[in-house]
Amino acid sequence: MFSGFLKCSDCGANLNYKYTNDNPDNHYFSCRNKRANNGLCNKTHHIRVDAITDIVTKNLSNIVRFASQFEDEFVKIVMDEQYKQIVLQQRKNQSALNEVLAREKEVDLLYEKLFEEKILGNLTEERFKKLSYKYEDEQTALRQKVKHLKDVVAEEKKHEMNADGFLQIVRQYTDIKELTPEILHEFIDKIVVHHREQVFGETVQKVEIYYKMIGYIELPQMSKSEKQSLALTFGRKEIDQSA
Ligand SMILES: [Zn+2]
Repeated sequence: MFSGFLKCSDCGANLNYKYTNDNPDNHYFSCRNKRANNGLCNKTHHIRVDAITDIVTKNLSNIVRFASQFEDEFVKIVMDEQYKQIVLQQRKNQSALNEVLAREKEVDLLYEKLFEEKILGNLTEERFKKLSYKYEDEQTALRQKVKHLKDVVAEEKKHEMNADGFLQIVRQYTDIKELTPEILHEFIDKIVVHHREQVFGETVQKVEIYYKMIGYIELPQMSKSEKQSLALTFGRKEIDQSA
């Protein structure tokens, strides 16, 4: 059921499913490019099916539990995270767009000049043709770039403030104990799997889960009493009971 969801953190390729013949219990995923040995990726990003199932189930059930218990707080966390991402990304996109627009203006001017030179008789027909093709090609490429960048900006706007959409799905699944393909499709956009590494003598493997509509989200680490106090302040159930 994870096919298509798992991505390599280094090369972005899908991780492919495999099981070893000598040990049929050992079901795992690993990077397609590394397996093909095509030089595009040099690490396996190997992860066992039982390990990834465990990680995703825990992460998802935590988020669903948190989101259904503390809807307002959850929306706030999502918005804060997205605000950071959006501001960063918008800055990047805007400067890329400005660059392209400036070059577009430049090329328009160069193109105009070319015609002037032609009229003045300073250019041979051949040279004129060659240059005008060059500018036309660049204009087409630039126009495509502008369109692409505008699409990117519009696409990001769509992702904005969609915590409510996510909550609507959460309300249908308040308690997730087992992962099913249906649940996976409903909630998850992609899962980025890093290669295992040694950190202070311990083997760690980073897995980033990107949810539909809210992206990557990190919940605050809270103790039981903190959760209880948060529940008293923001908890839906408490508010509903007193209402
Ligand atoms: Zn890879």
